[in-house]
Amino acid sequence: MAFYDQVETLSLEEKEKLQTYHLKSTVKLVYENVPFYRKAFQEVDVKPEDIQSLNDVQKLPFTQKHHLRENYPFHLLAVPLNEVVRLHGSSGTSGKPTVVAYTQKDLEHWSSIIARSIYMAGGRKGDLLHNAYGYGLFTGGLGLHGGSEKLGCVTVPISGGNTQRQITLIQDFKPRVICGTPSYIMNIGETMKKMGIDPASTSIQYAILGSEPWSEEMRKNLETMFNMKAMDIYGLSEVIGPGVGMECVECQNGLHIADDHFYPEIIDPITLECLPDGEEGELVFTTLQKEALPVIRYRTGDIASLTREPCECGRTTARMSRVKGRVDDMLIIRGVNVFPSEIEQCILKMDELDCHYQLHLVKNGALDEVALHVELKDEYYTLDLHGDLNHPHASLLKGKIQQTLKQEMLVSMDVHLKEPGTLPRFEGKAKRIVDKRKSNERISS
Ligand SMILES: [Zn+2]
Repeated sequence: MAFYDQVETLSLEEKEKLQTYHLKSTVKLVYENVPFYRKAFQEVDVKPEDIQSLNDVQKLPFTQKHHLRENYPFHLLAVPLNEVVRLHGSSGTSGKPTVVAYTQKDLEHWSSIIARSIYMAGGRKGDLLHNAYGYGLFTGGLGLHGGSEKLGCVTVPISGGNTQRQITLIQDFKPRVICGTPSYIMNIGETMKKMGIDPASTSIQYAILGSEPWSEEMRKNLETMFNMKAMDIYGLSEVIGPGVGMECVECQNGLHIADDHFYPEIIDPITLECLPDGEEGELVFTTLQKEALPVIRYRTGDIASLTREPCECGRTTARMSRVKGRVDDMLIIRGVNVFPSEIEQCILKMDELDCHYQLHLVKNGALDEVALHVELKDEYYTLDLHGDLNHPHASLLKGKIQQTLKQEMLVSMDVHLKEPGTLPRFEGKAKRIVDKRKSNERISS
């Protein structure tokens, strides 16, 4: 096996020693230089000297995206602004981006992390790398770019868009590696087919894909389409950008976390308690070596699980599962975590039901309860029920739905059958959850 970096194969003890060393200096750095963190540490009565081992991370307070917004643009910097050499940002709903900053050393580290990631995905020095990630404030384009050059790839900074030109350059330059979002690479493949070019006949052998959720189905489709291996890359600008996690080409079984730079935890998003390896929860990262914008226990909002079992490729880093969804989308029904997408799966399996549904959250004493409102298919409503929701078949169907939900998701919920066409329709993203737990009704997506 070949590795880019010896840090990838450290024993757990060696790794822990390295992480602890960097954790202590990061905590000291933010305590001394960032008023926000000093205040947050004081609120939980923690001083830098209280952090002596990795387990002590759990004493530290969490950081969230709104903290970055509240400290816009530069109040979370741990170095003077004139030591910063690059700014990036992510788009925010408020119109102002979340600003992230890098010192020269941060950029060097980031490049090394990405070089390691490209190597892990099959790229080698001298390979031509077609980078279709967007360049600009977004971290994707320039993030991949720096690491590609560091590894010694012939780097093509084509950025996103202008699909015709992408195809021309793929045919003329003959890249071995392509980077971009899975949906855009799929788009390039489909456009090629329309032009009479078989994507499988191109020179591309490896793809590094990320910055949007994608499934194993999508991976299979892309791999067949281009006759290549497609690897998942994970990252977020608040932590550094792409490269926080990367799948290896050998196993494609979970993403290797660059855990010499980012200490991962999984927490229960409600109780905020740490969960053991293997359990699903919210991913949290503490940066270990960043200078300009270190983050302490940053809550990503992404749901995944961790494993520290060594990978068959020989790397010993912690690995994260594919991101399953966002915390914001998760419901907790009597202690069971449920994603609306899972309820949708159950609904789509039943012939009598249409795909229009809503989940009504209600409070029953101290407990949260969920009621499923779902439309019947037109033909079932008119033929089987004779247009009558009180028809005996309706209560049989209700029982069947409740049983299916109970079996597949371990949750009990009330089911309300609806006449076809009676639930609201939406343009764009559907509003599936109606939260009635508070006095004034709030609808969230
Ligand atoms: Zn591996």
